[in-house]
Amino acid sequence: MKLVEPIISFQSELQQIRRDLHAHPELSYEEVRTSDVVAAKLTEWGIPVVRGLGVTGVVGIIRNGTSNRAIGLRADMDALPMQEVNTFPHASRHPGKMHACGHDGHTAMLLGAAYHLARQRDFDGTVYLVFQPAEEGGAGARKMIEDGLFERFPMEAIYGMHNWPGYAAGTMNVCTGPMMASSNEFHVTVKGKGAHAAQPHKGIDPVMVAVQIAQAWQTIITRNKSPLDTAVLSITQIHAGSATNVIPDTAELVGTVRTFTTPVLDLFERRMKALADGIAAGFDAEVDFQFKRNYPPLVNHEKETQFAVEVMKAVVGADKVDANVEPTMGAEDFAFFLQQKPGCYIFIGNGDGDHRTGGHGLGPCVLHNGSYDFNDNLLPVGASFWVRLVETALPLR
Ligand SMILES: [Zn+2]
Ligand SMILES: [Zn+2]
Repeated sequence: MKLVEPIISFQSELQQIRRDLHAHPELSYEEVRTSDVVAAKLTEWGIPVVRGLGVTGVVGIIRNGTSNRAIGLRADMDALPMQEVNTFPHASRHPGKMHACGHDGHTAMLLGAAYHLARQRDFDGTVYLVFQPAEEGGAGARKMIEDGLFERFPMEAIYGMHNWPGYAAGTMNVCTGPMMASSNEFHVTVKGKGAHAAQPHKGIDPVMVAVQIAQAWQTIITRNKSPLDTAVLSITQIHAGSATNVIPDTAELVGTVRTFTTPVLDLFERRMKALADGIAAGFDAEVDFQFKRNYPPLVNHEKETQFAVEVMKAVVGADKVDANVEPTMGAEDFAFFLQQKPGCYIFIGNGDGDHRTGGHGLGPCVLHNGSYDFNDNLLPVGASFWVRLVETALPLR
């Protein structure tokens, strides 16, 4: 590892910042204290800030030299509505809220880079530090774009980073092209006609229709989609009825579809509706079909990814870089940024949890688990990567 020396000496302060954020988790668009902390630190280090993009978002601006080139670095700030089971001193002080996705760590790593970049200034151009709200379902990235992020802060590329449990601590993992899936949800109600369960011929049983639809949808994966395309359709809820002897009026199917491309997603939405409508019509039932597209697929751009891989190798060593990591069907709203600007999103390994020395829950150290904790050993690694990325992308002449 070739970390940035002054950042190594700054590690204990970064850890304090990270653990303070961890103890005070805030949900999407409620990151008031968190954005106050971010803005206060940036201001303390002489970095101008603009607040309020995406409600609670913060943009820090570090300019140096004469070049009008600029890049953006992004960290997300929000926590999850879930109970932490860890009992160490920095565990959440807000019941039912927890930094279980490590966004406390992402914020601290970007602050670490900001601290060094503002002091050292070994680059020519502008760095925009994008502290984003509401990654966890609130599409904070899209909100910042709608609030004019790229018009007010024109940048040629944007980069993001997420910790990833299961990959060895401090490894950096990425791939070109689709790395995370689109995330979409469906809510489908089959409208039949209730009846006495002993007299089904007097009604239209929506349960039977819903079951046929559920089965038929899986054929979209095997019979309609190309075998070379990746997609998953999971029905996660089926709701109907309230008694053993009553055929209900309606039955509901709820779930998620994940794909790596928009054309495949279009295919799913179209075929799911056609099958639901057609099957329902065959049984004299009706269907209310709701399909909602949440996050688009996250697609890394080739040039920026290759560039980031070279910087990773320089920072953590080639043996700790996987430039062909297996994509995941998880989703991430950084995808909205990559639809607008070239860039790259990176997984930094969070290890298998043995950084948790005590006071942690018995569950695994994985994302969205009550026993999770961000690995503080990554703070100087991630911050050093950001610094070298900037210095390499915007070199002094
Ligand atoms: Zn998450
Ligand atoms: Zn996350």
